[in-house]
Amino acid sequence: MIEIKDLHKSYKMGSNSLHVLKGINFSVAEGELVSIMGSSGSGKSTLLNILGMLDEADEGSYMLDGVPIKNLNEKIAARYRNKFLGFIFQSFNLISYKNALDNVALPLYYQGVKRGERIDKAMSYLEKVGLSDWAGHLPNELSGGQKQRVAIARALASDPKVLLADEPTGALDSKTSYDVMNLIQEINDEGRTILVVTHEPDIAAMTKRIVNLKDGRIIQDTQVEQIRAQQNV
Ligand code: ADP
Ligand code: MG
Repeated sequence: MIEIKDLHKSYKMGSNSLHVLKGINFSVAEGELVSIMGSSGSGKSTLLNILGMLDEADEGSYMLDGVPIKNLNEKIAARYRNKFLGFIFQSFNLISYKNALDNVALPLYYQGVKRGERIDKAMSYLEKVGLSDWAGHLPNELSGGQKQRVAIARALASDPKVLLADEPTGALDSKTSYDVMNLIQEINDEGRTILVVTHEPDIAAMTKRIVNLKDGRIIQDTQVEQIRAQQNV
């Protein structure tokens, strides 16, 4: 589903340049639930933004569902992004003056889905995340966990091949974080490919594979089952 080879990224700042990704190689197969873990500043968001086609690498290759992602014009990039990818952010990024239902329905509007169908679909995704009773509420009437559920429903609404989540539990307390991760696990159980960026080991442990990033390099890439097996020995 995702294949990246020898990816490099630097940020230019005046005459200086900060080398953030230093040759990243990894692939993700369809149906995986992968966490990208590392301390703050290790390059997690930079990597996720490149995978999400929100930014471009300086060097290396990126294939998404068999399509080479390189030098695309903004229109084609936007089309691929809508078709392939759903995003979940730490700060939820809901539209404050739209209720939960309309937030979930928004990506469908951009896809040209007619109003009646939009509302039906959005409602079914709100049901899926356990929030059908909250459809008419504005974001500021919802708890943090509820807001993130709305954001997850919105990410699912366009039926993306891959969900990309950048610190989805970063603004939530532990109990709510585990609830949100349980929902992410359920969505993965249905076969959807999901990447979760986190700096929290207990959140990473709720995925199936942990890719450890340090100073812009992958230093470890392990199946969680293996880690568990080793710990039980
Ligand atoms: P993480 O998500 O792991 O905390 P980031 O990918 O956000 O790390 O950042 C990696 C490094 O790149 C940090 O040192 C950060 O300050 C720097 N950085 C991130 N975005 C930019 C940018 N747009 N311009 C310059 N430096 C940046
Ligand atoms: Mg980050």
